[in-house]
Amino acid sequence: MNRNFVLAGLIATVLVLAVGASGCVGTQSTQEKVLVVGTSADFPPFEYKDPKTGNITGFDISLIKLIAKKIGYDKVKIVDMNFDSLIPALQAGKVDVVIAGMTITPEREKVVDFSIPYWTADQAVVVRKDSNIQINSIKDLYGKTIGVETGTTGAIYVKDHVGKNATIKEYSTYVAALEALLNGQVDVIVLDSPVANMFVHKYPVKIAYTIKTNEHYGIAVRKGNTKLLNEINQALKEIMNSPQWEQLIKEYFGS
Ligand code: GLN
Repeated sequence: MNRNFVLAGLIATVLVLAVGASGCVGTQSTQEKVLVVGTSADFPPFEYKDPKTGNITGFDISLIKLIAKKIGYDKVKIVDMNFDSLIPALQAGKVDVVIAGMTITPEREKVVDFSIPYWTADQAVVVRKDSNIQINSIKDLYGKTIGVETGTTGAIYVKDHVGKNATIKEYSTYVAALEALLNGQVDVIVLDSPVANMFVHKYPVKIAYTIKTNEHYGIAVRKGNTKLLNEINQALKEIMNSPQWEQLIKEYFGS
């Protein structure tokens, strides 16, 4: 009788401990705060696939991880897609934020909210290294076959300023546009200057001309998501004013 009583107590204790422990694990996983981040991983050094591991990495990826940590997220989940799918994915709630070297433009500001700017860029006209194409003004693009990435400021600029005076070929990624340039399918590609500089270091291409568009990159959130936007801005300011910023630049731009 006494012994049975002790045994029952022991079993009860084990049960309580087991339920307690599993309950603990359960709460932890359901409470883990995950920031779902949309990007387009074809834009080195901002976002690209690590050639060795295949993992998505880059300046933007490290930056959003630092921000997420600062504002209380446990994890960041990166969702990779074509650049022109990013804003629709954000609007549809498939991602919480977009970081993709995305230029803050008045048209985009109508549909999403942007953080404070964190980078600047112009548009570079890139040709093959052995090309003798000379570009001294936008008009020199007339008659050329121009490769751009769909939905980008480069594509919009070329359509607006060169339009029917040239053949514009759109690609779903800048990697595809670069391949088309290397294969001779297009004469030039037009893309953001920091990424063009990366391509010049890695591939047999050169910058023929720079169009001074003075663009600023921002992190996008859903329109009206003020809480998240304020948190991101605060964290971004702190990071940009800390040694972490120089470290990020050094890591991904090499100086
Ligand atoms: N900055 C350009 C834009 O916003 C290109 C961005 C990109 O291709 N990732 O349109």
